Formats: sequence, structure tokens, C-alpha cells
Amino acid sequence: MIRIENISKQFGKLTALHNISTSCDKGECIALIGPNGSGKTTLIKSILGMVIPDSGKILFNGLDISGNWQYREEIGYMPQIGRYPDNMNIGQVLDMMKDIRNNNRALDEDLIRGFSIDKLLNKRMRTLSGGTIQKVSAALAFLFNPKVLILDEPTAGLDPVASELFKEKIVAEKEKGKLILITSHILSDLDDLVSRIIYMQDGKLIFHKSIEQLRKDTGEERLVRSIAQVMAENYE
Ligand code: ADP
Ligand code: MG
Repeated sequence: MIRIENISKQFGKLTALHNISTSCDKGECIALIGPNGSGKTTLIKSILGMVIPDSGKILFNGLDISGNWQYREEIGYMPQIGRYPDNMNIGQVLDMMKDIRNNNRALDEDLIRGFSIDKLLNKRMRTLSGGTIQKVSAALAFLFNPKVLILDEPTAGLDPVASELFKEKIVAEKEKGKLILITSHILSDLDDLVSRIIYMQDGKLIFHKSIEQLRKDTGEERLVRSIAQVMAENYE
């Protein structure tokens, strides 16, 4: 579904992405893991077309994404920090996004109801807590029923109930055959969720393997223990 071929990205002297190649298929929930600054967000933004790689290419359903906008209709993106016009209320933000997307697909309002966002429509964005902004971002990512969901640190600000509901939603969408790409520092959140792991460090892709394989290779059942082992091995 998404194919990444030899992409590199330099910010000045810093190599944020170093010749990354991999592919992500539908029906998978893939965790992008690595220390701070390892290039996870840069990789995500490259897929979204928000960062333009210096070399290499990215294919979405076989088509090169460079100079192409159409494919973004198929992606729901939840940014690490969602920014919205302060003076708009939640209802206006939702309406604005519906206007911009303007597609005829049935809306998926599960999270709007699940998070009770429908009871907060008159609240202005600037008055919302960080957790509520996260909920709005999450609801927007799923609202247009996209085939691919890209979630950058989605559970960071959510309370346990919201976080659990959100994980159930992710699993349900994965089971419908969608592709989910997720980064999180809260590895315990990923345990029952992800089917594959991409591990990055210093802009390099260290491995991309199934969670079963990672468990086998490390002899650890829990993701947090497996990754601790991988990090210790790659630490210099
Ligand atoms: P991660 O998401 O894994 O924490 P990032 O992809 O955000 O890492 O960043 C990778 C590296 O690239 C970091 O060293 C970061 O400071 C740098 N970087 C990211 N975006 C920019 C940018 N727009 N300009 C300059 N440096 C950047
Ligand atoms: Mg990041």
C-alpha cells in the first residue's frame, strides 16, 4: 500500500533520514519506534508530503506521491500536537474540516460520540485542555473513513478510559483492512495493538519485522521488554 524506496532527508548537516526503504501493507498496525530525534516524525511527514525527501521515492498504491495530492484523501493524520484556530469552537472546526474534505464518503463519528465531543461543540478551542484537543485530533483523523491512519503519539494526553476506547477503535479499523501507522513512547499501549515494528535510530531503519519475530528474537513476551533490549544493543 505504501512503498518507501531509498529516501534520504538532510536538514543542514543533520541526516534526519538515511536511505530508508520499506513497505507497509493494508490490514497491518505498524508501530514506528525509536529514540527522540531518530526520524520518526520526518518519515511520517514524508509520507504525508509535508516533508520532501532529497532523494528516493514513496509510492502510494503503486503511484509516486511527488506532485500528487489525490492520495492524501485516503489518509487520516493525527499530529503529535494538533493546532486549531483559537477562536473557533469545536463544532466550527468539525464543519470546516468537512468543507475542506468535501468528499461523499459516509462519516465515521464513532470517536466523536465515544469521546462525547458532540456535547462540547460550543467550546472554543483555546479553552480546551490538552487531552480534549487530542480527542478532537483523534476524532478528525478517523472522521472521513480513510484507508490509512497515521497517528503520531496519539495516546500521550488521553486519560485511561479514552485511551482504551481509542485502542479498541484502532483494532476495529485494522480488522476492516486499514493500514495503521502509529508512533508512541508508551510502549505498553502498543502491546495488544500492533502487528509489526519498524525500529529507527539516527535516521536509519534498523529493522522492520513482525511482533512475533521480535518476540522470538529477543525472547521477551512484552514489547516494552523487547524494545528495551533492542535499545540497549543499539546504544553507543
Ligand atoms: P522523532 O520524531 O523520531 O523524535 P524527528 O523526525 O522529529 O524525530 O527529527 C529527526 C531529526 O531531524 C532531529 O534531530 C530533529 O531535530 C531534526 N529535524 C526535524 N525537523 C527538522 C526541521 N524542519 N529543520 C531542522 N531539523 C529538523
Ligand atoms: Mg516525533
